[in-house]
Amino acid sequence: MRCLLVTPPMIQLNTPYPATAYLCGFLRQHAQGLRLEVTQADASIELFLRLFSAPLLTRMAEQLRGRARAARRRPDMPPAIAHFLEHAQRYIDTVEPTVRFLQHRDPSLALRIVGRGFLPEGPRFEQVDEEPLLNAFGTLGTTEQARYLASLYVDDLADVWRIGIDPRFELARYAERLAASAPTFDPLHEALHAPPTLVDLMLDELTRELLAAQRPDVVALTAPFPGNVYGAFRMARVIRAHAPQTTLVLGGGWVNTELRALREPRVFDYFDYVTLDDGERPLLNLLTRLAGDDVPLVRTWLRRQGQVVYEHDATQRDFPQQDTGVPTYDGLPLEKYVSVLEMLNPMHRFWSDGRWNKITLAHGCYWKQCTFCDVSLDYIGRYDKPATELVVQRIRALVAETGQTGFHLVDEAAPPAGMRSLAKRLVEEKLSITWWGNIRFEKSFTPELCALLSQSGCVAVSGGLEVASDRLLKLMKKGVTVEQVARVTRAFTDAGIMVHAYLMYGFPTETTQDTVDALERVRQLFAAGCIQSAYWHRFAATAHPPIGLNPAAYGITLRPPAQISFAHNDVAFEDPTGTDHDLLGVGLRKALYNYMHGIGFDMDVRQWFAPGTVPGTTVPADLIESCLA
Ligand code: SF4
Repeated sequence: MRCLLVTPPMIQLNTPYPATAYLCGFLRQHAQGLRLEVTQADASIELFLRLFSAPLLTRMAEQLRGRARAARRRPDMPPAIAHFLEHAQRYIDTVEPTVRFLQHRDPSLALRIVGRGFLPEGPRFEQVDEEPLLNAFGTLGTTEQARYLASLYVDDLADVWRIGIDPRFELARYAERLAASAPTFDPLHEALHAPPTLVDLMLDELTRELLAAQRPDVVALTAPFPGNVYGAFRMARVIRAHAPQTTLVLGGGWVNTELRALREPRVFDYFDYVTLDDGERPLLNLLTRLAGDDVPLVRTWLRRQGQVVYEHDATQRDFPQQDTGVPTYDGLPLEKYVSVLEMLNPMHRFWSDGRWNKITLAHGCYWKQCTFCDVSLDYIGRYDKPATELVVQRIRALVAETGQTGFHLVDEAAPPAGMRSLAKRLVEEKLSITWWGNIRFEKSFTPELCALLSQSGCVAVSGGLEVASDRLLKLMKKGVTVEQVARVTRAFTDAGIMVHAYLMYGFPTETTQDTVDALERVRQLFAAGCIQSAYWHRFAATAHPPIGLNPAAYGITLRPPAQISFAHNDVAFEDPTGTDHDLLGVGLRKALYNYMHGIGFDMDVRQWFAPGTVPGTTVPADLIESCLA
């Protein structure tokens, strides 16, 4: 039996999403008795490379010109399209060399790109001459500068694809809105039956090629995010049409959070099975059953006599992390991933730049208490940490396989004791890697531990400071205080480890004063050199966290859709506090952008908001300095 694991488009371009690598490693270790051949493919990077090629830009230009002729409306064209059509031949001539450059396969092109005469420069380049953008690179850093310019060029082309050809297309997501908390299947169904765009046609074409090359008996697609769902269903549709005997399975992070109450039978026109939570056990049992053995299914939706049914045998245990095997990237085109540099912010670059092997220290979160987090779901709530020995073995195997020594710890929150133990082993064994990951700002991250982590190759951490208010941190059961975060982040910074803080606004009961005061604390943390990077997320109520399960305890009322037969996660809510969070969001983002460029620390935080809309801060001007003292 041949089983193909697929990441559908679109998702990050710089490195493979790890789900297929994990499952591929696991199945190769555990399914030997089934005479199973397991392969994997990344349709996301393949679709990107197809769209960003000379033949496809030629087709895009023809299609746009044809439409412009038919509409006789060229003067009204959006700037991105008008610029592309005016310089179409230059785009066609430069796209493949530029993609090769972003794949690190042609570094010498940097000199031509920074000369500013090689690439056509569309609307995205308007920001380039603004301070402090290019100055950030100084007089050195030609390659960095060139990658930034080449990324703007890719963004310009992505805008042309989106505005001119398919409004659902983005570089890291495709048709996301059709799947994000969509209570009914109708919009997705209609989109799948609408006349195909050029992007659709390319995805259909590469799916047929994948089928012809691999001839799988089973295709398992992962949908980690809403932006992969349309791609997954579209690929499934093509597979159904061209190889109807193939068994199709859907799983992944989006499925795990959004399809827990699935009632829509039409999903099974595309997929035979939909599995929830970690894929190892459900997929192994399913494959075993398809191979002819009578084993029970685990956490699996299917359609029987027109009805959606859920099969789960609770006696079948998940595999402990100790037994999930070594992930493998075998079969994925590691040399084809592109490193884009869209933001000058150093921490954001970790997400979009460079190829990182993904590894976890543990399954789930050791804290599992935050009231806005999916602590009731398996991926957070089931904490399981394998021995450090095994983590080191996996690191060694991935370095040997990929030749690359960069690691992203994709734990929900890496446990400090596990990080210490890993760092000691890395230092003792002189295993030279570069690594970064997500943590909680625990007080156990002492200056001594931070120094050890740095010595072992840790270069960056990210963690939640959330609302930066002790009252709200307590309400969200984050288990940290602003003072603690100040000390811990300073210890990381002093050890040479970059710190990114996840920030949140719009939490239940949050007032305008809370938000202004939170910004003042964040200002002081930047000014004191505790954090170098941050991002404000707007709080969204979702179905599975404690807040979604018991909203009254947080003073809010949920307004879920009347009928839910398909996806369900985000839930609209009412907060009687009545704060205008939309108004505040703009000012918060503006302030942060400036702080990340080292600007505006001496400004009163009120100045980031519309005049007269917010009160002054009540936070003492030396709060963070006194915490550090
Ligand atoms: S928000 Fe982070 S620290 Fe809190 S429970 Fe979730 S994963 Fe754990």
